[in-house]
Amino acid sequence: MGFKIRKNDTVLVIAGDYRGKQGKVLKVFPKQEKVVVEHVNMVKRHTRPRTNQQGGILEKEAPLQLSNLMVVCKSCNQATRVGRKTMEDGTGVRVCKKCGEMLDAL
Ligand SMILES: [Zn+2]
Repeated sequence: MGFKIRKNDTVLVIAGDYRGKQGKVLKVFPKQEKVVVEHVNMVKRHTRPRTNQQGGILEKEAPLQLSNLMVVCKSCNQATRVGRKTMEDGTGVRVCKKCGEMLDAL
């Protein structure tokens, strides 16, 4: 677990209220299997004024379940399942199961 979706990946929401939306992964919580996606699942939080901050309503992304997301491949531009390939030197890379391209920038 943990290798499927990484920070800076583009993901597609495949289930729930935000189905069909795409965004960039800002944060991954591997233990909770949750991911924060830019501009998806926004929640409003009321904040109180502090010394160096104005109070008001702050909009922030709430984490989404990993199972509701799919990685969008940068090569074929499709939402895909992630495969894993071991390189000759033993390092593991993620590959797109649709076009076979590597998902990790090397
Ligand atoms: Zn692909």
